[in-house]
Amino acid sequence: MANLSAVFSEKERTNWLKAWLAVDIAKAGIEQFVENEAITLQASIYKIVWSSSQAPAACIGCHTANLLKCPTKNVCNKWGSQSTCNSMHDSALKQPRPCPANVCNKVHDEIVKRHRFNNPSWKNTTAQQWATNPWQVGKAYLPPDGYAGKTTVQDTDFNGIISFMMNCKHFYNRLSFLISPGNHNSPCLLTKARDIGKTVRHSSHCKVTDPDLQVIFTTLACLLSDPTCLAHDVAAKEAVRKLAELYRQ
Ligand SMILES: [Zn+2]
Ligand SMILES: [Zn+2]
Repeated sequence: MANLSAVFSEKERTNWLKAWLAVDIAKAGIEQFVENEAITLQASIYKIVWSSSQAPAACIGCHTANLLKCPTKNVCNKWGSQSTCNSMHDSALKQPRPCPANVCNKVHDEIVKRHRFNNPSWKNTTAQQWATNPWQVGKAYLPPDGYAGKTTVQDTDFNGIISFMMNCKHFYNRLSFLISPGNHNSPCLLTKARDIGKTVRHSSHCKVTDPDLQVIFTTLACLLSDPTCLAHDVAAKEAVRKLAELYRQ
């Protein structure tokens, strides 16, 4: 960035600052919805798991590593029959073993089933908290790395939150549009919003043109007004109002 005052005096730099704020407003507007949906997702998974057990029992003892075969692709970084796993299954406590209550293994399977590519991000999620913290289930749908320490939706960045909505099939009927419909179709609103977040945060010149700024605000407002659920969400409505106000500044 040239200098700080340029953010306020040069139009395109002011635009970039507005775009940055717009992404923050959108994140705040979508958090409550995502948190509620994570709670619903967790409840629906445990309902299935417990209804399939003869004598339902809670388990608080399984590490994520206990539930994964060794090696598991993209998780264990040593391959081959002679080598030992030095990432996920790195101690006696973290060797693969069945869940004593026959619960966590089933939760694991339900998480996989709901993943768009059957490929959850196990490194992000703590199985010991699956029953108590819905976001530990939600984090299995985030990008593969970098979210292990995040315990709440609020704590998670915009990219992570949007990824949850894109990767978890739970959202298929929570949005009015087809999520990420493939290369031959135009990108969906979630893809566009995710790209906006990345572009704004990684902009090396810290500038946004007027037409680009308009697209950013329109796209984010459009996502936050999605008719299926978000249009009825109080925080999302408030975010749309704030976006309009900021755009007029
Ligand atoms: Zn391993
Ligand atoms: Zn268990």
